Amino acid sequence: MKVIDHIKQTDQTIFSFEILPPLKGQNINSIYNTIDELMDFNPPFVNVTYHREEVVYKRLDNGLMEQKVIKKRPGTVGICAAIQNKYKIDAVPHILCGGFNKEDTENALIDLDFLGIENVLALRGDSIKGETYFVPEKDGHTYACDLVQQVSYMNEGKYLDEELQNNTPTNFCVGVAGYPEKHFEAPSINNDIDNLKQKIEAGAEYIVTQLFFDNKKYFEYVEKCRKAGITVPIIPGLKPIATKKHLSVLPHRFHVDLPDDLIKEVANCNDNKQVRQVGIEWAIEQSKELIKAGAPVLHFYSMGKVDNIKAIAQAVF
Ligand code: FAD
Repeated sequence: MKVIDHIKQTDQTIFSFEILPPLKGQNINSIYNTIDELMDFNPPFVNVTYHREEVVYKRLDNGLMEQKVIKKRPGTVGICAAIQNKYKIDAVPHILCGGFNKEDTENALIDLDFLGIENVLALRGDSIKGETYFVPEKDGHTYACDLVQQVSYMNEGKYLDEELQNNTPTNFCVGVAGYPEKHFEAPSINNDIDNLKQKIEAGAEYIVTQLFFDNKKYFEYVEKCRKAGITVPIIPGLKPIATKKHLSVLPHRFHVDLPDDLIKEVANCNDNKQVRQVGIEWAIEQSKELIKAGAPVLHFYSMGKVDNIKAIAQAVF
């Protein structure tokens, strides 16, 4: 079933979460353990991130450096199929512009369609190590709106080869990313929202936000989007802070601010066990306020560890 239909069929706020494929060499049981822990809260869908190739350098015996391009977390499509098969819930694979040309994308979408996957979250992806700016593949997409457009065309039965006839249309529901604190490359929040609108016009049916710790930023963002004519559901993305290191890692990696009160609470903690508790309590307060305000879904970024998300879900769902 499509994410948008899950949202439409209830007035209640839905619980959902995102998982990462395990590192290459690990097995799928870590994913099952994560999902098993959270199934009590009835997630109708689970997102699975996509990780593109990375450039790594290995020092050789002769002192020279060898450059290797590797994928550390493959398996998104397989995990999605396994989740749908085992748990009978919907899986939402993330698909990227980065690392894919249009033909690769078309073939990946055909695989997903054949596997009975009806949802994708369409993203541009970030630049890879060594690149300052995002570089699309030759004959790939530069922006997520172009990727959304390709999926929409396939939903109309339009494939890349114009000579193909009697094509079966795919039936994907497409979600896209939004940034309450602005995408770091955008010159202004209004410009970023204009670009977000292009993704909706290309066929995206809902938005999932970057993580944030101050609900005011989400509420203001939703208001700005509505004023810009974006009417689709805007799903808040939440991540409980869990370590002192997160105070620097999260702003650096996700380009978000942390509220001063939260920073103070974390700084006063003696160890990460206490930080985890502070993060849980903060996220519970955020969740309660978002549910009260009618958020369609609370979408948690698990990043592999779920005890804290379970504690939050127990308190609010
Ligand atoms: P876009 O919507 O293409 O926007 C990128 C930048 O270009 C923005 O500054 C935007 O304002 C600008 N822009 C957009 N369209 C235009 C246009 N037509 N003309 C000019 N400028 C334009 N990354 C991964 O690698 N794997 C994942 O699984 C993953 N999952 C994510 C899930 C969520 C919910 C979120 C919020 C992010 C995720 N990311 C993931 C990170 C994401 O790939 C990066 O944030 C990336 O830098 C931007 O992706 P986007 O889809 O928002 O890009």
